Amino acid sequence: MPLPADLPVVDHHCHLSPHGEGVAAARRFSAAGGTHLFLATQNYSSEVPRSVQDYRVQFEMTEALAGKVRAEAGIEVYVVVAPYPVDLVVAAPLLGLASALDLQRQALDLAGSWVLDHRAVALGEVGFPHFEVPTNVQEAAGLAFDHALAVARDVDCPVIVHSADLAPEEYRSLALRGERAGVPPRRIVKHYARTRVPLRERGGVAASYLARRDLAREALGDPGPWFLETDFLDDPARPGAVLDLATVPRRAHALAEASAEGVERLRVPFVDSVEAVYGWRPELPVGRGG
Ligand SMILES: [Zn+2]
Repeated sequence: MPLPADLPVVDHHCHLSPHGEGVAAARRFSAAGGTHLFLATQNYSSEVPRSVQDYRVQFEMTEALAGKVRAEAGIEVYVVVAPYPVDLVVAAPLLGLASALDLQRQALDLAGSWVLDHRAVALGEVGFPHFEVPTNVQEAAGLAFDHALAVARDVDCPVIVHSADLAPEEYRSLALRGERAGVPPRRIVKHYARTRVPLRERGGVAASYLARRDLAREALGDPGPWFLETDFLDDPARPGAVLDLATVPRRAHALAEASAEGVERLRVPFVDSVEAVYGWRPELPVGRGG
C-alpha cells in the first residue's frame, strides 16, 4: 500500500549543521516522503560553550537552520534546545565543575524561555554522559538533569533524554525521577533507544527508537508513545556514523508496502505519540495531504 497523503512522516530526532549538508539533507528527507523533522540543537563549533551567550548563539543557529529548511525544503521543523549534557564534562576542567554546572542551569533556563516563546517545543538533549565519568561529574550531571526536569515542569514541555542504553529498571527510575519533579513519564523521551522495551516495562517513559529496519518492525505492534529517529548528525567528517536522514520515510514506505495494517500502525509514531507527548498533532505542510 502507498502511504496515505494525510499521514505525516516524522523523524523525531536529527541534527543539521551549517558546515554539513543542511538543507540538501532535508530535501533528501522530503523527496523520500518525509514531512516533519524534530531538529535538536548541537554545538556547531569545535569549542565547548563557555557562557549563556554562547548557547544563545548556538540555539539561534538551530532556529535559523529550521527556518531555512521550512522555506527551502517545504517541510515542518520543530526546534529542540538545551545545553548538551556532555558539554558539562568538557567544560568542567576549563571553568571548574561548579561553574560548569551553573552554566548548564542557566542555559536550561534559556531553553525554557524559548519554549515559553514558542521558539522551541522541548528541552533536548538533557541527561547524562553516555560514557564513564568521575563520580563528582556524574553527580553534577544528575543535578543538571533535575534542573532540566524542573524547567520542563514550569514551562510544561517534554524533555528529550540523552543517556547510555537503558535497561527496563533504568527506564522506570527515570519515570520516578520525573514524577518526583512533577513531570509525567510520557513527557520524558529516551532518545537513541536501540532496543525495544514495552511501554509497561518503561514505566510510561516514551522511547524514540533508532529507525533500524528490525527495530521499526518490532516496535510497530506496540502502543505509543514511541517514535522513530535517525539522530542524523550532518557531519561530513563522520559519514555513516548514524542513519541517513532519508531513513524514516524509507522505513515507512517499506512497512506500508508490507501490509495495510502497517500503514495504520504508523499513525502511532507519527501522529498519536506526538499528540501524547507534545499535546498537539503534526500539521501537514501546505501543499501536502488531502
Ligand atoms: Zn542527538
